[in-house]
Amino acid sequence: MNFCSHCGAPVSLKIPAGDSLPRHVCEQCGTIHYQNPKVVVGALAEWEDKILLCRRAIEPRYGFWTLPAGFMENNETCGEAALRETREEAGARIELGSMFTFIDLPHISQIHIIYRARLLDLEFSPGEESLDAILLGEADIPWDDIAFRSIDYTLKCFFEDRRKGEFELHSTSFAIPSPGTYR
Ligand SMILES: [Zn+2]
Repeated sequence: MNFCSHCGAPVSLKIPAGDSLPRHVCEQCGTIHYQNPKVVVGALAEWEDKILLCRRAIEPRYGFWTLPAGFMENNETCGEAALRETREEAGARIELGSMFTFIDLPHISQIHIIYRARLLDLEFSPGEESLDAILLGEADIPWDDIAFRSIDYTLKCFFEDRRKGEFELHSTSFAIPSPGTYR
């Protein structure tokens, strides 16, 4: 950040009084521009024994497979974000289940949250950010072409839990960079 979004004056990096981290502080109006983690929310939607996957039409990780997911917007709930992203990326209508994975990614200042969900009908089609949106069984999951480590983790937890016949919330933290990041 170079300029204040409030008044347009140059900002400088300094530790405000009573704070412990450097922040972008406006020299003119005194506004402190905090930068905080972003939340990515998505859904693992089931139809019979298959799940809904999308192939990315955008960078990063163009052409790789993912669950419908994206950045949460202001003034929406996590659940609303999961519904919206699934509609935008897969054109699909879902009914949300419980939160399934909660993943801290401190190296990129993100949190990824994926819900379980049930696909309501088969009237779905890829949105602008997807090349494909299809239902796949476990045997057909393209494990070598999954876009993000958090999605790979979520899929593995899902199939393991399904085998056990019991689903629980999985929360974890990834300490090392994954191959791709949401932007
Ligand atoms: Zn300012």
